[in-house]
Amino acid sequence: MSDNSQSQCFFCGSSSLVRREVEERVSFESVFGLRIEKLILPGLVCETCGAAVIGDEGQELRDQEIVAKRRKAIANDILQIRGDTDMSRDEWLALTRLGDASLSRWENGSHEPTAGYINYLYLLRFQSNVQRLLERQGNIAAAAEESLPENDGESGIWKGALVEAFPDAQFGEDVLEAARHFDPTDFELVAA
Ligand SMILES: [Zn+2]
Repeated sequence: MSDNSQSQCFFCGSSSLVRREVEERVSFESVFGLRIEKLILPGLVCETCGAAVIGDEGQELRDQEIVAKRRKAIANDILQIRGDTDMSRDEWLALTRLGDASLSRWENGSHEPTAGYINYLYLLRFQSNVQRLLERQGNIAAAAEESLPENDGESGIWKGALVEAFPDAQFGEDVLEAARHFDPTDFELVAA
């Protein structure tokens, strides 16, 4: 144990040092804020003055434990944020525009979000902010709908033509979506 290299107390100079588990308070940032937890680490206690120190081994272990605890806390925070909405995972990803792979890595603790993402995730905790994103998403969808050509002239498919050609049909979002993305310059079609 590398702690053996320390033979005297830093504080009083006593050489009566004994190995003991040392409790240390550590802090780290999760999505919801600063967390403070206690760790039990291998250390040395001075029998003369009572000072307790953790050596290199204890410090290394502490750093590892902080990372593990932080990742677990972040994963729990994100699961709670998602759980507080009534959206499916896919709906939530579509709304937030976060990456599926990133979310998986954050939730399984293999990676951590950057500080900027931590802030974004924090804002997503509040339903008023989620609501704003939903409004924005709705506005974009409405604007996209507005931008559909009323009449494209000689070729192409457009919503009005679909409705006109099939007056009794109920067009699903998928059909309308396909019509929205249709690029008449790719094809030469004669309108029905
Ligand atoms: Zn001492």
